[in-house]
Amino acid sequence: MRYYSTQNPTNKMSLKNALFKGLAPDKGLYMPEHIPSFDKKFITSLTERSFQEICFHIASLFLSDDIDKHNLRKIVETSINFDAPLIKLNENTHILELWHGPTLAFKDFGARFMAQLMGHFLEDTSKPLHILVATSGDTGSAIANSFLGVEGIKVSVLFPKNRVSNIQEQQFTTLGENITALEVDGSFDDCQRLVKTAFLDKKLNKALRLTSANSINIGRLIPQTFYYVYAFSQLKNTEDVVISVPSGNFGNLTAGIIAMKMGLPVKKFIASTNINKIFPTYLRSGVFTPSSSAQTISNAMDVGNPSNFERIVDLFHHSFDKVKDAIIGFYFTDDETRSAMQQMHSEFDYIVDPHGAVGYIGLINYLKKHPESKGICLGTAHPAKFLNVVEPTLKTDIKVPNRLQSFMMKQKKSVQISNVYGDFANQMFENN
Ligand SMILES: *Cc1c(COP(=O)(O)O)cnc(C)c1O
Repeated sequence: MRYYSTQNPTNKMSLKNALFKGLAPDKGLYMPEHIPSFDKKFITSLTERSFQEICFHIASLFLSDDIDKHNLRKIVETSINFDAPLIKLNENTHILELWHGPTLAFKDFGARFMAQLMGHFLEDTSKPLHILVATSGDTGSAIANSFLGVEGIKVSVLFPKNRVSNIQEQQFTTLGENITALEVDGSFDDCQRLVKTAFLDKKLNKALRLTSANSINIGRLIPQTFYYVYAFSQLKNTEDVVISVPSGNFGNLTAGIIAMKMGLPVKKFIASTNINKIFPTYLRSGVFTPSSSAQTISNAMDVGNPSNFERIVDLFHHSFDKVKDAIIGFYFTDDETRSAMQQMHSEFDYIVDPHGAVGYIGLINYLKKHPESKGICLGTAHPAKFLNVVEPTLKTDIKVPNRLQSFMMKQKKSVQISNVYGDFANQMFENN
């Protein structure tokens, strides 16, 4: 299968090139040239299949031209080696826990799969592959941990100073080895701009073999379709299913739409955001107006210019009506997010992180008008990753899992840079 750029669909590339390029030269995002379809039998037999079998089946539909069965199975089994249980809260409310991976957030799915894919295609290790990643928190830890110690690959994680929680920061600033953390005096949008500029910088690209690992990379998008299908396999009644996705850069929601286009019978997607409401506003007005991002307690979703917007409109052939048919959007303030966390705690004895809470209220809002629907919201991070928000909000102690605790005991190491591109480029030349 080949992959085209959203900016120019005639501009096609191999999987390997799309994977290592990240962003297309024309600044577009890569998309598979066709969306494969599930056969009916696959959907009706879902309940008999394990999560890994489901993952392997979907991965084969996209990747079997490019990777032989044996290696593809190895890639799936190495990367998706943890569960994604669907927890029933009541008759029509469920939460899909996507945080059972090594860094306790859903980004482990995409990052680990992409790391294995890149490892598979990496042949020439004479010049190391240099991965640039901008993070508002969870991406950095997922990517850094997925690539830690991978031969022939270096990772630079750019993160905004003072805007990432301590626990999150520890997960990518303490690793050492082939991982460098760059602490940017600026916002997440600044970090993202620096990375985007680097990819277009001819001189830098001549000196270094750069690639991206942000949610724009096609290698992260494909594995995110897996758990949507798995969520279905765990539901008893699969009619009238709606899925609420707490969103920032909209990679997660894009993957959900791809799963739907493959034939997963989802009735509606709910795009739930914090006050960075660019996408919900677009759904109302038809106008997409990026802005700078505002800081919230669901900081991994503080995105003012969601990069996967291009893919979403592409999937609906640029028809605003079709986008609106498939997706409804809501946004919530921090106070509403905290109330939702408290409500889930008192009503269901369930502790949710602030991102999952945004997804949950989006779903509740929708169910008020459509009580017949079966709802799933995505729990994107373990609550212990956001102790500073969760504990005071719920007035309860959260048990920190061991794999998170071990990060807290290590020494932080980061390189401080300004938000000026020249400083960042110099640092990259030096660190090579
Ligand atoms: C990244 C992230 C999101 C947003 O996902 P997108 O794919 O960028 O929309 C939501 N919740 C958590 C915990 C995240 O880390």
